[in-house]
Amino acid sequence: MKTLRSHLCGRWHEADGDFRTLLNPSTEEPLARASSRGVDFAAAYRFALEHGGPALAALSFGERGELLKAMSRALRERRDELLTLSRDNNGTTAGDGSFDIDGGGACLAHYAALGRALGARRAIAEDEGLMLGKSESFWGRHVLVPRRGVAVAINASNFPLWGLAEKAAQALLAGMPMIAKPATATALVAERAVEILAEAGILPEGALQLVVGETGDLLDLLGPQDVLAFTGSADTALALRGRPALLASGARVNVEADSLNAAVLAPDAAPGGPTFDRFVRDVAHEITQKAGQKCTAIRRILVPRSLEAAATEALVAQLTGVVTGDPSDERVTMGPLATAGQLAAALDGVARLRAEADLVCGSGARAAGVGAPTGKGFFLAPTLLRAADPWAARAVHELEVFAPVATLLPYSGEAAEAAQIVALGGGTLVTSLYSDDQAWGAALVADTAHATGRCYWGSERSEGLGSGAVFPASMHGGPGRAGGGEELGGLGGLRPYLQKVALQGERALLDGLLAE
Ligand code: NAP
Repeated sequence: MKTLRSHLCGRWHEADGDFRTLLNPSTEEPLARASSRGVDFAAAYRFALEHGGPALAALSFGERGELLKAMSRALRERRDELLTLSRDNNGTTAGDGSFDIDGGGACLAHYAALGRALGARRAIAEDEGLMLGKSESFWGRHVLVPRRGVAVAINASNFPLWGLAEKAAQALLAGMPMIAKPATATALVAERAVEILAEAGILPEGALQLVVGETGDLLDLLGPQDVLAFTGSADTALALRGRPALLASGARVNVEADSLNAAVLAPDAAPGGPTFDRFVRDVAHEITQKAGQKCTAIRRILVPRSLEAAATEALVAQLTGVVTGDPSDERVTMGPLATAGQLAAALDGVARLRAEADLVCGSGARAAGVGAPTGKGFFLAPTLLRAADPWAARAVHELEVFAPVATLLPYSGEAAEAAQIVALGGGTLVTSLYSDDQAWGAALVADTAHATGRCYWGSERSEGLGSGAVFPASMHGGPGRAGGGEELGGLGGLRPYLQKVALQGERALLDGLLAE
């Protein structure tokens, strides 16, 4: 069986024990084993500081952008190979795999273009400045400079390439070396991607290192110039945030966690109309894309009571048309969950939701997968529930069932009530609304914008790709439960890796500091 390796201190490290076995989630066949036993994390951390950091600092934004461009190109050239690994290890269909693999390449390309636009600069001025005294002899400007530490990126199981690529794009462009750690159970794609990049010899030594397996004492080594960029569940985020050494270190921590995202149908979206149809198509897509294993998947569906019967009927029709099974079978339109543990957690989650909601579609039990060996595979068919009283329900607003599972929540049709129900989720990555009524939409946005990272407005005039799509040019993250972090959004995505400094003094001297 293949043994996955870590890439640290300029060479590959193969562990000698404590292995976890990676499975094909459709067949349960072993694919590889992974462990980080024997890794010297202090040496890897020093290698990043002493080699990767100075090498990146010697480059301008434009030159670092060129590195990202070459990374994007190298990964795109191996797209088919990476898609196959994604299918085998993550259980993705071709479309779902593309979301990860092509999405990762697109992020790198986006930040490469931003680097090119920044050109020879070595710092980013946030403003032209303003007079702090009585004349320009006392002026102030805000400037962002690269932090002189190490960025540790811990990524989630569902986006092994996109997670690695988007964090690397932002940290490397900002000038920080990165140590990346993919989720162990689905590390095949990330390990191969780093191998492709290492073979291509694009990056300076120490700019991008890879840990496959546990992180040992790495997080306890972090200091005030370092960054921990975490993506994963709210529970893991809580455990990591609370580590005493990390709290004491002063390291910057950016968290992208899970979220009980909501879609709200407005009462004006009549059945059969384009906005109603868009709502049905988007919601069904968000429930089933990547088998619902997306942080941005819709978990709560608010429907006005006047439209509930029509919306339920249309959604059930879409969901029952989904073919769940092994993605290597061409009939299949939705793959399995990624691991046995995730399936067990999803079945338990559906059982907990059923204590306060009725099953509308799906059985709540493990499914047989089309094209999969009998009794094998971590399959769950699309599952729709209905909580008659959204105000009494608790689990629906608090428990992320990381699977193709969502719950219908009937409401009055008033935007104010919808906003209050959405807020029970404690902060979301995305809230979507479907309406052609400007006043109704404005009322909902006004009352939900503070509690979500993104408001997605679907209407007959909108050409959006659905609320789950994350664009490098548009901010990703969300308040509260969603982690409170920010990523992407163009140059804003560099923020965690840059230090803001207020420069004060005589204007011409300050401007001279920023002259190219
Ligand atoms: P997870 O179980 O929370 O794990 C996330 C990462 O944390 C993995 O790499 C995991 O490594 C690592 N980890 C766990 N315990 C650790 C520890 N004590 N020290 C260091 N690292 C540790 O989440 P997941 O199952 O991989 O991913 C699914 C979750 O991520 C969902 O809740 C989803 O909503 C969320 N997610 C959020 C976003 C976002 O942008 N907001 C994006 C994608 C996914 P091991 O695998 O080695 O345990």
